[in-house]
Amino acid sequence: MSLDGTYDDGNIFAKILRGEMPSARVFEDSHVYAFMDVFPQSRGHTLVIPKHSAARNLLEEDPAILAPLFLGVQRVTRAVRAALKPDGIMVSQFNGAPAGQTVFHLHVHIIPRWEGQALGRHGEGGMADPTELKALADQIAAEIS
Ligand code: 5GP
Repeated sequence: MSLDGTYDDGNIFAKILRGEMPSARVFEDSHVYAFMDVFPQSRGHTLVIPKHSAARNLLEEDPAILAPLFLGVQRVTRAVRAALKPDGIMVSQFNGAPAGQTVFHLHVHIIPRWEGQALGRHGEGGMADPTELKALADQIAAEIS
């Protein structure tokens, strides 16, 4: 899907928000929902999405939603750091399939990185064990302040 198109509320993140699909929840408030990526590019790969949005990408989002979204991203990124003690943290966001986007509900990736550990391939890694993801989600959630 290119940058042109319309929001499809059958996308997987919309289903997660409606509770139609499971997810390992890290954090939520009235604006954002944060959960573990099931095909993580590193241990602790977390996603943050706006709850009340019909934007496929950053370009389409209402600016009023971006402020609380990025406050949520910072909050969760700090919790990832506290919980997992990575050496660095990549925060990324893709717009359009040619840029690497595969799910068309605006989202931000929080990907902890460790010295000497290669980054997993985007969207091509194996599916994580749900029990492990839940444990990681709880570990990160415990550090939310
Ligand atoms: P994008 O490629 O659109 O930037 O990122 C979408 C992300 O969603 C990918 O990192 C992918 O691993 C993740 N993902 C795809 N399907 C699911 C799912 O059903 N549950 C969760 N938690 N993550 C998913």
